[in-house]
Parts: sequence; structure tokens; C-alpha cells
Amino acid sequence: MKTIQHYIGGSAGDDEPASWGEVHDPALGEVTGRVALGDSAVVDRAVKVALDAQAAWQEESLGTRQQVILELIRLLETHRDDLAQLITGEHGKTLADARAEVNAGLEVAKFAAGIPHLLKGDFSENVSRGVDTYSIRQPLGVVAGITPFNFPVMVPMWMIPIAVATGNAFVLKPSEKDPSASNLLAELAVRAGLPAGVLNVVHGGAPAVEALLTHPDVSAVSFVGSTPVARRVYETAAQHGKRVQALGGAKNHLVVLPDADLDAAADALVSAAYGSAGERCMAVSVAVAVGEIGDALRDRLVERIGRLTTADGRADGADLGPLVTADHLRRVSGYVQAGADSGADLVVDGRGVRVPGRENGFFLAPTLLDHVRPDMSVYTDEIFGPVLVMVRVATLEEAIELINGGEYGNGVSVFTRDGVAARRFQHAVQVGMIGVNVPIPVPIPYFPFGGWKRSLFGDAGQYGEDGIRFFTRRKVVTTRWADSSGSRVDMRFPAAR
Ligand code: NAD
Repeated sequence: MKTIQHYIGGSAGDDEPASWGEVHDPALGEVTGRVALGDSAVVDRAVKVALDAQAAWQEESLGTRQQVILELIRLLETHRDDLAQLITGEHGKTLADARAEVNAGLEVAKFAAGIPHLLKGDFSENVSRGVDTYSIRQPLGVVAGITPFNFPVMVPMWMIPIAVATGNAFVLKPSEKDPSASNLLAELAVRAGLPAGVLNVVHGGAPAVEALLTHPDVSAVSFVGSTPVARRVYETAAQHGKRVQALGGAKNHLVVLPDADLDAAADALVSAAYGSAGERCMAVSVAVAVGEIGDALRDRLVERIGRLTTADGRADGADLGPLVTADHLRRVSGYVQAGADSGADLVVDGRGVRVPGRENGFFLAPTLLDHVRPDMSVYTDEIFGPVLVMVRVATLEEAIELINGGEYGNGVSVFTRDGVAARRFQHAVQVGMIGVNVPIPVPIPYFPFGGWKRSLFGDAGQYGEDGIRFFTRRKVVTTRWADSSGSRVDMRFPAAR
């Protein structure tokens, strides 16, 4: 049994916390560790340490901060496999997918390494005679990140490199379901030269989150998780005067038009629906077949699903691993039953899959339901498992109407060879991230990541220009360095003259 402690001020302590949580290996279905659950006292300690460290850190030169990020990149590359093992051991995704997750996090660090350029302000000379105006961006102070279980490295890495490169100190509250990777991340950051206390990890659940949202010395909160919690975090943090961005859940559609390459569309659907056992906020969970192609698309999906292997994420040849917890497996299986009970056609049923040697693991094999209607819970709710539902519509306009009728607006894709149809689609759908002939339209880090509607509360997405703006405050400075011989009293409101 391993023990995961809070990481505060440059080391993991050995205090006895008020309570412990259990950490599972989902492929084995066994408890393999215990994690300290933080309360308001622990949060207060972490914030105080962060506040002290931030005062010195914000005075470091841009070159020094950049050097730390560059060294962090090197260390993350060296420890990619260690991080991947920790992810797979607690989340369950395949090792190949876990390595890809680390790579995606690294991309944000590479973006943040450009901080000397990214923090450049604007300068206007002679806004009035002898008067110049310029803008600068400064850190907020102590900022907090609250992250979900499904990307225990990538989502913290959406925030940390940008937050610290812009001069803030950071308190991370990762998911209590897979907490180990965040401690290794913090350790690597300190080894990279980040001063102790600039990055801290407080473990725990709702009480630790509540303490961060209400702490007077936390200036901003970046949250990623489910929609009900995102909404609560957004409201509570705002009530306490904090800047907040809260990214929520999703129900992503992939629309296949009659002229599309059906094999490419089927490949994309299977990859995006079942990769990481569907536990991705950008997973595709609804296939929308337009026109007469429904049966042909379904045949291609069934054929590809038949070739997938559900296994321990560490096993060679595993295409998808288990779900994260036994409770989540029950919940997802319940949706499959509800779909069948409400009249959907259960084409492939992944319940009851047996993984030899892993009989207690939380496995559900890829599942496909066809002829799903928009009033069924398998359509309306975010299931977050390897369950793809297929809806059939007659026209592109009907597909757009279906998508726009939903409560989420995270990601969406269209497969077609018709540029006019693709352009109409990207113009009309009320969704933040759009793919054309690509399965998972996750923006690379020099564009921001974020959805619309109940997929994002707030006006800033993660990383890119939004990340720089979110983690900094702007100042606009007006200066007059000119001969004062022409100076006189002037009672008019200042204007450019
Ligand atoms: P979650 O909302 O249960 O948990 C997210 C974080 O909030 C965790 O750190 C958790 O400890 C904390 N938390 C949970 N319940 C809380 C409560 N009542 N009060 C305060 N804090 C609480 O989400 P999850 O199950 O860990 O992650 C999956 C969800 O995250 C899915 O809905 C998925 O779509 C979403 N997600 C969204 C994005 C995005 O970019 N939009 C990215 C990844 C995941």
C-alpha cells in the first residue's frame, strides 16, 4: 500500500491527516494506496507557503522563469514513462494513451517556454505630445487549480506552466481518484529549479475545494471537471471575489454526411468513442448518420469494434482499459440498460466482458446503441464510458438543430467531402471546438481550449492567449518624460491632442 501525502513547500510531509481516501488500481479492482484528504487547515498552510514564495518568484527575470520551464520539459521527457505508469495504475488507461497524455501536457509547457515573448505588452509613443502609453501584464499572486480524474497529468499541465511562468504561485487540488502523478509533477518542477512553495499539491475532495474557493489569499481558480461541480465552483469563487474559469462536461457529436469517406469516419468514431474507455471530455459519444448511410456506417463500426481488445492498460495490445471505479462501472452499465429499455437497438453490448487474470477489474467493453432518440437518457446525459450512440437524421440542417438543442457545447466534428456543407456546419453549430474530417478537435496550445454553453463557465478557455490573460492582470501606464516648460493648469478631461 502506498501513501500519497500533500506536497507543500517543496516536499511531501508525513503528518497524519484528519482522514485518508482509498486509491484503486482499476484493472485489478483492488485498493493499492491511500491518499491524505485535506481540510481547511491544510489548504491554509499551502496558501500561506505559496504566498511567501510568490513574492520572490514574481521578481525573477523572464529568462530565469523560462529556464525553469525548459528544464521542466527536459525532466518530463525523461520521466514520461514513470508518469505514464502512475496514470495507468490509478486511472486505468493504456500505457500508450498515458504517454500521449504526458506529451499533450508537454506541449503546453513548450508554449509557456515562450514566456518572454508572450508577456510583451503594447507601447504607443506620443499619445499626446511627449506622452507615451504602454501596457504590462503582472501575476495575480496565489492561484488554484482543481482538476478531474480523467487526465491526471495533462489537465494540471494545462494550467501549471502558464501560471508559474507568468509569475504566480500555484496550489493544485487534483482528483482524489488518481493523485500520485501530481506529486511527481511537483517534484520534477522543484528539481527543474522552481523555488519550493511556488507549486504545491493539496489532496482531497469537496472540503479542500471549498477551502480554496473561499480562501482570501487565493486570487483565481481554474477548474476542470463535471458540469454540476463546475457551476458550483464558478458561483462560489465569484461570490468570494475571485477570477474563475470552470470547464465542465460534454456530449460530443460526430456528424457523418452521405458523401463522407465512411471508412475514415468509422475509424474516427471508434478511436474517439472508445479511446481511454470514453473517459475524455472530448470523447465522441454520439454518431449522427445523415441520410441513407446509417446501416453502412453501423456495419463498419461493428466490424472495427470486433477487433478491439479490452484489457489491463499495461498489457500488450490493449486498446482500452477499465473504467476508473466500480461505482462508475455500475453507473455506465445502468445507462446501457436504460437505453435498451427505452427502445434503442443494443447492437454491441460490452457488459460482462471477462478479462483473464483481471476478474475483479472495472471493465466494460465497447458498446454501441443504434436508433437512439434525443429524449433517451443515453442521448441527453454525459455517460463518460465506452458507449457510442447512433442517431439517424435526414439532413445536415437536422443534424445542426440536434446539436444546438443540447446543453453542452464542447467539441463536435463533421465528416464530409463537401466544403460548402462543412462551412455551413462550422458557422451554425453552437460549439467551442470544431473538427472537419478529424475525430477529436483538441486545439494545439497556441490556440485556446474551451467549449460553449454548460461546457465552460466564464469567458476564458485553457492555455493559449486565454491562459496568459487568465493568469495575469493588465496595467496601462501613461508617462510624460518631456521638457516641462510648456506646463500649465488645464481643467479639461485629458484627451489626445
Ligand atoms: P468531478 O467534477 O467529479 O471532479 C472534478 C474535481 O472536483 C475533482 O478534483 C474533485 O475532487 C472535485 N469535486 C468533486 N465533487 C465536488 C464537489 N461536490 N464539490 C467540490 N469539488 C468537488 O469530475 P471528474 O469525475 O473527476 O472528471 C470527469 C468530468 O470532467 C467529466 O464531466 C468530463 O467531461 C469533465 N472534463 C471536462 C474537461 C473540459 O475541458 N471541459 C476536461 C476533462 C474533464
